[in-house]
Amino acid sequence: MTNSPHDSSITLAERLGATALVCEVFSSTRLSTSIHEVVLAGNATLAGVPGNDVMIRVATTAGAFVRRRYSVRDVDAERGHVTLWITTGHDGPGSQWARRARPGDPVDVIGPRGKVVLNERADWHLFLGDTTGLASFYRMAQSIEAPGRAIFIVEIDHSGDALTADFNEGLGVTGIFVDRQDRAKDDPSGLLRGLAAFALPPDRGHAYLFGEFHRIKAVRVALGDRGLADEDVSFKAYWRTGRENADHGEPDKSGD
Ligand SMILES: Cc1cc2nc3c(=O)[nH]c(=O)nc-3n(C[C@H](O)[C@H](O)[C@H](O)COP(=O)(O)OP(=O)(O)OC[C@H]3O[C@@H](n4cnc5c(N)ncnc54)[C@H](O)[C@@H]3O)c2cc1C
Repeated sequence: MTNSPHDSSITLAERLGATALVCEVFSSTRLSTSIHEVVLAGNATLAGVPGNDVMIRVATTAGAFVRRRYSVRDVDAERGHVTLWITTGHDGPGSQWARRARPGDPVDVIGPRGKVVLNERADWHLFLGDTTGLASFYRMAQSIEAPGRAIFIVEIDHSGDALTADFNEGLGVTGIFVDRQDRAKDDPSGLLRGLAAFALPPDRGHAYLFGEFHRIKAVRVALGDRGLADEDVSFKAYWRTGRENADHGEPDKSGD
């Protein structure tokens, strides 16, 4: 096994001010119908702070390589383990890699990446999106100091994907999983209904929106209508229905 990342990973990491490393898959476990947990053994500095992600280099079926980004769910600094929750209910190089990953497999990883982090000044935090956001939502919420409040509104494809987590004692936690049923994957109406059902607390809040491009766009507008200022909404489209992410891992954000 080579211990040196691919030249392109080293160059890219330098440009991004991040680290490129060859990690080994420590374990890969199917957690639910749509989510695989992959634990990477390498170096915990790749994981950065809650809200950060890593970029992994995976092969396509045509034999080329692309990068895919996955938020860090958990980190074990002592063992150098970084845990990812990867959605595998669709076909793409990233999801195939997660499904097939075996202990000992080498993988090029660049991290930490990402700009959205917890707003320490907020009294309550609203995490809203789909299953691709769960890892980040839970890691961020687990870093909230009590007293504080975390609200989750997450759309899922299958009831088994309603994975839960443990939080700091003294943290007020409210959440709903919205079942997508037969709605299209870019249909925001489920999340919008979930949001409409919540009375947002009166003090200062911050919303974090991660998930499918069209859903995130619609929910952003709805939060503005509910009175949240732009500076109190952090958002990132993670993927886009019907279009594969670009080779650097970002979804196409052009057009409607
Ligand atoms: C900063 C960042 C953090 C992210 N964190 C996570 C994370 O923690 N966990 C996670 O699972 N994903 C995460 N994503 C999203 C993930 O990178 C994308 O879903 C990516 O498209 C998956 O790559 P792929 O090779 O499997 O599919 P692609 O080759 O990109 O796409 C193939 C096909 O599958 C569809 N597709 C892609 N993703 C999904 C999906 N999730 N559900 C349904 N259809 C899909 C596409 O529309 C396309 O038609 C993150 C993305 C970003 C930018």
